[in-house]
Amino acid sequence: MSDVNAPCLGCAIVSGATRPVGGIIARAPGLVLHGVAAPSPVPGWVVISSERHARALYELDDAVARELGAFAARVMRAQRKALGAEHAYAFAIGDVLRHFHLHLVPRFPDTSQRLWGRAAFDAPPADHRPAEELEAAARALAAALAPGS
Ligand SMILES: [Zn+2]
Repeated sequence: MSDVNAPCLGCAIVSGATRPVGGIIARAPGLVLHGVAAPSPVPGWVVISSERHARALYELDDAVARELGAFAARVMRAQRKALGAEHAYAFAIGDVLRHFHLHLVPRFPDTSQRLWGRAAFDAPPADHRPAEELEAAARALAAALAPGS
């Protein structure tokens, strides 16, 4: 497995040099919402990354940290309203990629209980959803988050 920190995958995604499935979905001041850069067992699993390289939430500027809460809440509401999720999780772990990112993972009424919570990170390949389904969910979220929508 290649090293996600040399060069930094977070910087590559926010600059547009690397496109995860789903691409860049929305932006807020200092923050970028994009598809998760790994196989996903749930459509609509997205990630907020800081535009600036920061190790973790504790290195964000106060203004960006404030923006993060409102932006994450808006995205999670869109996961429920536009995608039909019944719940949404937020995870900021940072053991693998050392560029601040917050995973926002929807849970649907038909999501198997073995994929609830952080178990989504350990989903076996048989649970991974096809790229087309993940792209469609990203487009639906982008539309729901577009200014004026
Ligand atoms: Zn970075």
